[in-house]
Amino acid sequence: MSELVVDQLAVQVGGSQILSSVSLTVPAGEVHAVMGPNGAGKSTLSNAIMGRRGYEVTGGSITLDGVDMLALETFERAQAGLFYAMQAPTEVPGVSMFNMLTASLSARGSVPDDLAATLASEAAGVGFDTALLERALNVDLSGGEKKRSETIQMSILAPKIAVIDELDSGLDVDGLRTVARRVEQLTNDGLGVLVITHFPRLLHELNADRVHVLAQGKIVTSGGPELATELEQTGYGDYV
Ligand code: ADP
Ligand code: MG
Repeated sequence: MSELVVDQLAVQVGGSQILSSVSLTVPAGEVHAVMGPNGAGKSTLSNAIMGRRGYEVTGGSITLDGVDMLALETFERAQAGLFYAMQAPTEVPGVSMFNMLTASLSARGSVPDDLAATLASEAAGVGFDTALLERALNVDLSGGEKKRSETIQMSILAPKIAVIDELDSGLDVDGLRTVARRVEQLTNDGLGVLVITHFPRLLHELNADRVHVLAQGKIVTSGGPELATELEQTGYGDYV
């Protein structure tokens, strides 16, 4: 059983200490949500987990199945089983999704013969126009198309743990339900998810197990999915 463990993580960005001590554990098959006010550092946490340049870890640890992620480059973290769907997915001119996935899978071992067919069926499953598969990765896609694109990549790369930052941004109601359903299926197959969102509805669709509130550089409270609904009424006033 895989497990992502973030322990007393401290992160600086641009000289400011954004996270001071974040601790949470995401086991295989569970969905953990991180909520919190704008600017609290939710995306900073995701970026630090994946090792994005500019996010300097100044304390604590991040391990996946006991392996120190902080000692690894981003691509090595991906090979170890981490996946990151960014709040604003990167556009990669000149590289199609098929090419990117072929390169990723071959770097990790082997490319299945039926990749093209699997890709087409995953695309159809989340309502992603298969014509877009020929185009450069994420280039000129709408917000919602980018989130569908990330979901397809996640399905094919089959990571152990996915960090998903604001899956809901840009997706319409039906798109959100479709994409959430695919992610939920993946969790039933053992994927662990750390999802960042402002919307209890997404957590309901994903069947979330735990909700953590990030404020003032740390997790200030955690609870079950009902915490998300409660926050919708109360706001974050108690925590900031
Ligand atoms: P959230 O995702 O919770 O809304 P972020 O992690 O994006 O918050 O941002 C937390 C703080 O860190 C904000 O004050 C933001 O301006 C700052 N920050 C985030 N990324 C950068 C960066 N690359 N350079 C400078 N400041 C940043
Ligand atoms: Mg953010």
